[in-house]
Amino acid sequence: MSIGAASGQLDEDGTFPVAEQTCSACEGLCAEPCPSGAIQANPDGSVSLISEFCGGCGGCIAVCGFGRISMDGGVARFADGPVAR
Ligand code: SF4
Ligand code: SF4
Repeated sequence: MSIGAASGQLDEDGTFPVAEQTCSACEGLCAEPCPSGAIQANPDGSVSLISEFCGGCGGCIAVCGFGRISMDGGVARFADGPVAR
């Protein structure tokens, strides 16, 4: 079961809503602390973020070692562009 499924935030067809923001720069550490289901780990190793589900706790930012997430208007957003490791 995905994190999104666990939180009950599914589309009417039972799938997690399509996220415009994804990141595959690490193994998806940011998905684990998310209490709202805004970040979902995908089978391909990437993670998807739907900012409208974000509760603004900052947990994902705290665990991301690549600076890929920032708060924007009280919700988390993934950074665009390449990742510097
Ligand atoms: S946003 Fe950060 S913690 Fe999440 S997958 Fe990307 S690099 Fe990893
Ligand atoms: S800031 Fe938002 S996306 Fe990040 S862990 Fe908290 S609720 Fe989830």
